Amino acid sequence: MRFSKMYAKTLKETPKDAEVVSHQLMLRSGMIKKLASGVYTYLPLGYRALRKVEKIVREEMDRAGSQEIFMPVLQPAELWKETGRWDAMGPEMMRLQDRHGRDFILGPTHEEVITDIIRNDISSYKSLPLSLYQIQTKFRDERRPRFGLMRGREFLMKDAYSFHATDKSLDDEFENMKAAYSRIFERCGVEFRSVEADSGAIGGSGSQEFHVLAESGEDEIIYCNTCGYAANLEKAESVVKENSNSKEDLKPAELLDTPDVSKIEDIAKFLEIETSQTVKAITYMDTLSLKAYMVLQRGDYEINEVKLKNLLNETDLVMLSETDLIANNLIKGYMGPYNIELGDMILVADESVTKIINHTAGGNQVDTHYINVNYGRDYTADIVGDVRSVKAGEGCPRCSEGVLESARGIEAGHVFKLGKKYSESMGATYLDENGKTKTMTMGCYGIGVSRTMAAAIEQNNDDNGIIWPMSIAPYLVDVIPANIKDADQLGLAEKLYAELVNKNIDTVIDDRKERPGFKFKDADLIGFPIKLIVGRGAKDGLVEIKIRKTNEAFEVKAEEVISFIQEIIVKG
Ligand code: ATP
Ligand code: MG
Repeated sequence: MRFSKMYAKTLKETPKDAEVVSHQLMLRSGMIKKLASGVYTYLPLGYRALRKVEKIVREEMDRAGSQEIFMPVLQPAELWKETGRWDAMGPEMMRLQDRHGRDFILGPTHEEVITDIIRNDISSYKSLPLSLYQIQTKFRDERRPRFGLMRGREFLMKDAYSFHATDKSLDDEFENMKAAYSRIFERCGVEFRSVEADSGAIGGSGSQEFHVLAESGEDEIIYCNTCGYAANLEKAESVVKENSNSKEDLKPAELLDTPDVSKIEDIAKFLEIETSQTVKAITYMDTLSLKAYMVLQRGDYEINEVKLKNLLNETDLVMLSETDLIANNLIKGYMGPYNIELGDMILVADESVTKIINHTAGGNQVDTHYINVNYGRDYTADIVGDVRSVKAGEGCPRCSEGVLESARGIEAGHVFKLGKKYSESMGATYLDENGKTKTMTMGCYGIGVSRTMAAAIEQNNDDNGIIWPMSIAPYLVDVIPANIKDADQLGLAEKLYAELVNKNIDTVIDDRKERPGFKFKDADLIGFPIKLIVGRGAKDGLVEIKIRKTNEAFEVKAEEVISFIQEIIVKG
């Protein structure tokens, strides 16, 4: 490719509305262009990188025994009504009608379509297991599309689906896919971690996420510093730290005046106790089921709303407003589980609450608190479970010595054991060896192809621009004749460029009439892994090779350039 002809308009200034570095650098290097919020065009350089990620994904999926198909983006509403997701997906689903007024959607994922294909096509255990995948544009009307390709409304996903006769067969495929995902992210040159995850709206039993580690990541992941335990925050567990008074005898509950003391820290200070000896009460309502909940949490812990939704089997929990509180005779800052008329409100307790001896809780009157309240003796909850957000520094739930640490991650891949969720609701059955009808067991496996590309940049950049991992760089080499008016320089640059192209090495020659400094800046911004600079040494047959990632520079004889570059590429 000749730089003079390349459609890549680089920008000096950082675009104002781009918050994260991958978005800024992709815009500045002319790789993508915004059409609407969360909707982007891939320009030539960006599209080359995307296709390289796609190629790695395809090769590894094929290698893992999955077969590529291509399903329609446009899907009839009926299928989604069968599984109940026509309603459950809510406003994230892009909906439309055809000319006859029939409802359709633009696929956010394809469980319904694939299950429909399989239930009609597969009838015998002999055809199972079966794994199929596609690489396709997905549509999700995200509440907050942002960070460029990271959270788009239209984005490229690889989605795979597997069908099995037995749970064991699904377990095997789950492991097979995890191994394939590790190879994919390794080959993409990103630092990643796989973590236990919550199954979310897709449902099912086991689930594991692959996170690219980066400060800007939207997710928090928790991992043990000793054993292999790792989970995302929505799933992570920890050991509840015992209070110092945990051996104390139960004392009688007592109402105290606590004027103007409503915050947990203040009440702990006022009573000279640890915040872990207090209990806070937070009230929620689900906008769909209309059920109301009072949720109790130990004073030093926070409620994790994803865990809470899963425990309660609710989808749209919101905190009660002050007006709702007043309407229910509840007093903000002074709510507690003891001596309260809850009516239809359901009482939920984090498991940590049930273990506190003689805890403090709201008095259910302004400026009062109870002390020495005890779970079991004074009140019981309707539902008890783990709804706590784990924090770094807490004890590992798997090994006795480990301490939990936390890191930020970008979720690039997700593997689920779906079980029978879709096969049951859609009737995907097969006949077993004895001719008996059984329901298939399913798995599904996603990779955000466009998000992975952005995540790679998020992890690999410096003040000058992108530092592409070799395997997904749009081009590997930028040949830069320092002075194109110098016949020796231009001649040698053109010759080396032709040789590199002949060897199928993705190469650009910067033949623009610009100063060398200007060209170097663009080269670093775009992130070519290798710069081949043909300068004054050209007349003696010498060139300079610079490595973007390490900043190393080598003086190399012209006739050795190809083998030198090939070696760098192999090393990665
Ligand atoms: P998130 O929690 O980030 O919204 P998700 O759980 O909704 O992700 P999945 O349904 O598991 O995502 O989709 C599979 C993969 O598709 C994700 O692991 C991610 O890499 C990618 N992905 C999901 N939503 C988007 C999006 N809006 N833009 C780009 N990639 C996405
Ligand atoms: Mg999502």
